[in-house]
Amino acid sequence: MIMYSSTRGGGEKINAAKAVIKGIAEDKGLFVPDRIPVLEQPLEALCGKTYQEIAEKVIGAFFQDYTGEEIHDCVIHAYDDKFSAEEIVPMAKIGGGQPVYFLELYHGKTAAFKDMALSILPYLLTTAMKKEKEDKQIAILTATSGDTGKAALEGFADVPQTQIIVFFPQDGVSEVQKRQMITQTGKNTHVFAIRGNFDDAQTGVKNIFADREFAQDLEEKGYKLSSANSINIGRLIPQVAYYVYAYVKLLEVGEIQPGEQINVTVPTGNFGNILAAYYAREMGLPIKTFICASNENKVLTDFIRTGKYDIHRDFHLTNSPSMDILISSNLERLLYHLSGEDGKAVRGFMKALEREKAYEISPEMRDNMKVFYGGFADQGETLKVIGQVYDKYGYLMDTHTGVGYSVYQKYVQETGDKTKTVIASTASPYKFASAVAQAIELDQELDDFRYVESLRDETGVEIPQGLRDLQRKPVLHNQVIDVSDMKRQVWNCLK
Ligand SMILES: *Cc1c(COP(=O)(O)O)cnc(C)c1O
Repeated sequence: MIMYSSTRGGGEKINAAKAVIKGIAEDKGLFVPDRIPVLEQPLEALCGKTYQEIAEKVIGAFFQDYTGEEIHDCVIHAYDDKFSAEEIVPMAKIGGGQPVYFLELYHGKTAAFKDMALSILPYLLTTAMKKEKEDKQIAILTATSGDTGKAALEGFADVPQTQIIVFFPQDGVSEVQKRQMITQTGKNTHVFAIRGNFDDAQTGVKNIFADREFAQDLEEKGYKLSSANSINIGRLIPQVAYYVYAYVKLLEVGEIQPGEQINVTVPTGNFGNILAAYYAREMGLPIKTFICASNENKVLTDFIRTGKYDIHRDFHLTNSPSMDILISSNLERLLYHLSGEDGKAVRGFMKALEREKAYEISPEMRDNMKVFYGGFADQGETLKVIGQVYDKYGYLMDTHTGVGYSVYQKYVQETGDKTKTVIASTASPYKFASAVAQAIELDQELDDFRYVESLRDETGVEIPQGLRDLQRKPVLHNQVIDVSDMKRQVWNCLK
């Protein structure tokens, strides 16, 4: 059976259910599977299967301590008519000679790809709690750069035996994102704006997780902490499924031949989405290159090009705020795999990052990283491609997907590679309405909410259900706090 252990080498191996409940390992490492399962059947054999059927196979292959029936139940409850597209993740093709395929991951409740994992995580978690006979309440702490927070709140709202606490950077999210979070209903939901950026929020949450004494006090109160961030393996694994699904769909319609390699482009922040693609490749999906796209916070571009991860740099607030991140948590999992599962080495890198704000990997590890291409697009380039693609093909992208497309173009220019490419389309354009409206040169409006309407009038693209009438919903969470106050607020939330 596949077991899970810390990227930093500490602690014992545990089953998937326990890893999902814990969220993060005691030595602050992330849980990783001790081997990556290989797909049992050839990919052609999956042609004709639904998203749910493929998700069941992929998630079941990793989470072997769950029964087939348990995984099936989790999947069918997660991927149902909450999604506005029957296929769950539709694909859009643009271009002739060298087409690209946008894998639209944003048709869930909150209009961002985070719904793909956060629709199922509550089911995986509550199932795990039953299996492990966990009688405590689980308090889920989440730091968000905008999209995870809302998706986690929607996923966990009023789920029995859970509390969900979200921290977002006060000035680091779009107006639509903020309004989505502060209007959240549900008795177990708690939302705080923090004075700081996303990294401050994420570090604050990680420090709370590492505080043993606090954990003890909470246990006495009847609570255990867990995470809905992509540090939780229960978030990462469901994301592997859509890459397998995308490949199978391309096979099914004859866009690719059996065995043909594809490239995958992923607009990247915390490195979760692209790592899921890497896991898909390890399972047997023929992926040639991972195109890792960043915005001006291009720490990953530099890392992939030089082998040095260095956060001595300014933090930029950009028009793709969900990628405004300097410390990409899931890179730790990649380091673990690239180093030949060397927990001690990973612990060293993470210590150096904490102390010296930088680390450098070995030539061997760089060699293993050659399947990754790193590039970035600035805000102007992002707006430009959104405008171009809309003018030329009538296809509307959000700013994050725009970063992905721009970097994809640079990659093709640099390498001449003609491999067919899937671009992860991570959010609805309506979530970043003012920037998208600017990109396609609409008139100025007063706020994001009016841009949502003018975008609809111009493009005819339907406004996602969850974004309609947002400005009229009552604000239910209005606290703004200091990072140093996060722990106390967690304590106060948990009665
Ligand atoms: C979270 C997010 C990303 C970055 O994904 P990671 O898994 O953190 O790399 C990109 N785009 C959007 C819209 C997001 O919400």
